[in-house]
Amino acid sequence: MIEPTPLLAAYRAVVCDLDGVVYRGSQAIPFAVSALAQARGFVPVTFATNNASRHPDEVAAALCSIGLETRGTDVLTSAQAGAARLARDFPAGTPVLAVGGPGVAAAVAEAGLTPVTGGTDAPAVLQGWGREVTVGDLATASIAVARGARWVATNTDRTLPTAAGLVPGNGTLVAAVREASGGRPEVVGKPSPDMLHEAARRLGVALAGVLVIGDRLDTDIAAAVGAGIDSLWVLTGVHGLADLAGSAFTPTYAAADLRAVHQSPPVVARDAMTWTTSGLTARVNEGATGVEIDSWGRPDIPDPNALVALGFRVLVDLRGDGCPAERLAVLGESFDASLHCAVAEQ
Ligand SMILES: [Mg+2]
Repeated sequence: MIEPTPLLAAYRAVVCDLDGVVYRGSQAIPFAVSALAQARGFVPVTFATNNASRHPDEVAAALCSIGLETRGTDVLTSAQAGAARLARDFPAGTPVLAVGGPGVAAAVAEAGLTPVTGGTDAPAVLQGWGREVTVGDLATASIAVARGARWVATNTDRTLPTAAGLVPGNGTLVAAVREASGGRPEVVGKPSPDMLHEAARRLGVALAGVLVIGDRLDTDIAAAVGAGIDSLWVLTGVHGLADLAGSAFTPTYAAADLRAVHQSPPVVARDAMTWTTSGLTARVNEGATGVEIDSWGRPDIPDPNALVALGFRVLVDLRGDGCPAERLAVLGESFDASLHCAVAEQ
């Protein structure tokens, strides 16, 4: 009997997103910790986060607290990617105005540049989010940028989710500097592929051998598409199959959870408007609003990863057929609802 080949076997390294993939708040996402710990037996894993405010050691400590032993060197923040970009173009020791949390100044220093927090003469500005950022800091950055300083923003996520609600994210603070200075920042966080290039460089692997894992189509998957490499989209975070309908970015694989990296990607067969994979069939009827999903073989609880692979393939195929986005969104919602039930029952 031929052993099935796990998805991971085709790759030399993994670059994995954090929020919505490994944890949500302080809670570990089901199966993520064990799947990633096991994956490290085969390939190195770098955790790449757009959050520039925290030092990599602090991010590593958060991963350790949910049972995933991690060192700061396993973490890549957008602040590090931004500092690396500046270090390519400025000589060692060049002063860089570091606007943001402690992670921003630390990244500048780690890259061999000199972080400064005041004065408008620095030839470069690295701007990331930080709880301590003041109007004075934004003023200093605006004047430096208006005077011609090179300006790199770690990311432009407009908002930041907190327990109390959405608060201004780095994109909003960057917008303030842009309005005041008339400048335009270079952005290195996802969806820019910069972080993937930097992660591959640090790991010493060719970019083509990297698998990107993420939960957001517009950042993680967009970055992988931009870099021209494969991605695994997991539905444990922000986006569901219904979101694929309006997305310009399509992952290589889709899964319900990270157990998928150790499974062989389900083979989905299509016959007209019927799609079949291990123990599951989906029938899409002309004119019907939803989709009929039957499980057979082991009918009680559909395997969530097979269900997502099936839904993903149905949506990608129908999009290829020219199916309108509104209809795809409705079909995606049917699969998302079935997945919700399957996950609740497992
Ligand atoms: Mg995420």
